[in-house]
Amino acid sequence: MDRRSLAFFVGLGRALLVLVISVLAGLSVTTANAQIPVALDMRIAGDREVTRIVIEFDRPVEVDQRLLDHPWRLVLDLQKILYGFPGDAADGSSLISGVRYGDMSEQHSRIIFQMTGPFHVRSVRMRQDRESARHNLVIDLEAASELEFAEAVDRAFTTSAVVNSAQKRDRLGTAVQPSRPFTVVLDPGHGGIDGGARGAGGTREKDVTLAFARALRERLSEYAGAQVFMTRDTDVFVSLGDRTGFARQHGADLFISIHADYLRRRDVRGATVYTISEKASDAVAAQIAENENLADSVAGIVPDEESNGVADILIDLARRETLGFSVQFARLAIADMKGFARLIKNPHRFAGFRVLKAPDVPSVLLELGYLSNAEDEKLMKDEEWKQGLADRLALAIEKFAALSSKDIAVASDGN
Ligand SMILES: [Zn+2]
Repeated sequence: MDRRSLAFFVGLGRALLVLVISVLAGLSVTTANAQIPVALDMRIAGDREVTRIVIEFDRPVEVDQRLLDHPWRLVLDLQKILYGFPGDAADGSSLISGVRYGDMSEQHSRIIFQMTGPFHVRSVRMRQDRESARHNLVIDLEAASELEFAEAVDRAFTTSAVVNSAQKRDRLGTAVQPSRPFTVVLDPGHGGIDGGARGAGGTREKDVTLAFARALRERLSEYAGAQVFMTRDTDVFVSLGDRTGFARQHGADLFISIHADYLRRRDVRGATVYTISEKASDAVAAQIAENENLADSVAGIVPDEESNGVADILIDLARRETLGFSVQFARLAIADMKGFARLIKNPHRFAGFRVLKAPDVPSVLLELGYLSNAEDEKLMKDEEWKQGLADRLALAIEKFAALSSKDIAVASDGN
C-alpha cells in the first residue's frame, strides 16, 4: 500500500469513527436529555473593590445580564441549566453578599447575585479552559458610585427588552409588547411669528427656548435608553394643540415645554417648574398661564371651544395618574437643579396651561428664568450656564425614566 492510499484509509477510518461517535452521542443526548447545560462549579474571588465570578459549564451558554436596585443585584438570565455548583460560593468578603438561583420556566434559568454596594459590570465573557475543556462564564465586577450604578440600571433596562418580554410571557402565558426607548418630547416655547417675551437687553424668548432645547437634546443623546423629539428645531410657529398632539403621536413618556417668560414684577427671578391644575397656585402662575394660553391668538389662530378650557382635565383616572407622574418629574427636576440654578421661591407651581393638557403624557412647563429680570436675562445668554442646567435636567430625566421602568423591572424579578 503506498502512502497516498494509506492516508486515504486512515482518513476514512477517522471519518467512520467520528460518524459512530456522533451517532452514539446523538443517542445519549436524546435518551439522557443531556442537551441541558450543566453549571458544574462556581467560584467567587476578590474584595470590596474588584470581584470575579467564574461559572464553569460543560458547554457554552447564552447569558443576558441586568442590574436591579433596592437592593443592588446582578441578574443573569440563561437558557435552562442544571445547577451543579455549591450554593455557598459567596463568603461575604467580596462585592457579593449572596447568591440565589432557580428556574423561571422550563426554558429559562436565573442566577441572582446580591451585592454589598453599587457596582459596575466591567465584562461578561464566555471562554473555554484549555485543560479542563470546560466553558467558563467569567464576570468581572468593580465597585461604583450610586450615580454610576443608577445610570447602568437605566441602560440595563432598555437593553434587556428580550429578557423582559420572555419573562412576561412565562408569567402570563401570552406575549407582551416589546419595550421601547424612553421617549422625551422637548417643546421650545413660542417661535416664528410668536416671539414670546423680550428682555430689556433684547433677548427673545423663542431663541432662548430653542437654544436650550437643543443643548438638552444633545446631552440626552449620551443616554442610550432615551429618544428625543422636538416640536420645533427652527424658528417656526407651532400651535399649542400641535405641540401636545406631537407629544401624543410620538407616544411621549415625558413632555417638557421650555420657556423664559416676562413678569410684571421685575424683581422676581429663578427657574420654575409648572404642572397643570384647574386652579393656579398663585398670581405669578396664573399670569404665566394666561400669557402662554394666548400664544395661538398671538399668531392669529382662534382656538376652538373644546381646546380652550382646562376645566375638564382631571376628570378620569388616567389623567390623575398622568398628573401624578408630572408632579413626580417636577420634584426630581427641582431637586437636581437646586444647587446649580437659582430657583424661584416655591419652585413647583401650577396653573391651567393648555400646552400641558395631553391626558396621557406626563408634562411640565419649565421656566428657565424670567426675561423681565436683568440678571436672569444675562444668565440665559451664558453658554456655561446653559450646558450646566441641561446637565442637571438630563439627570432628572434619567432618574424619572428609571422610576417609570421600575415596576417592570420588579415585576420581572420573579421572586
Ligand atoms: Zn413663554
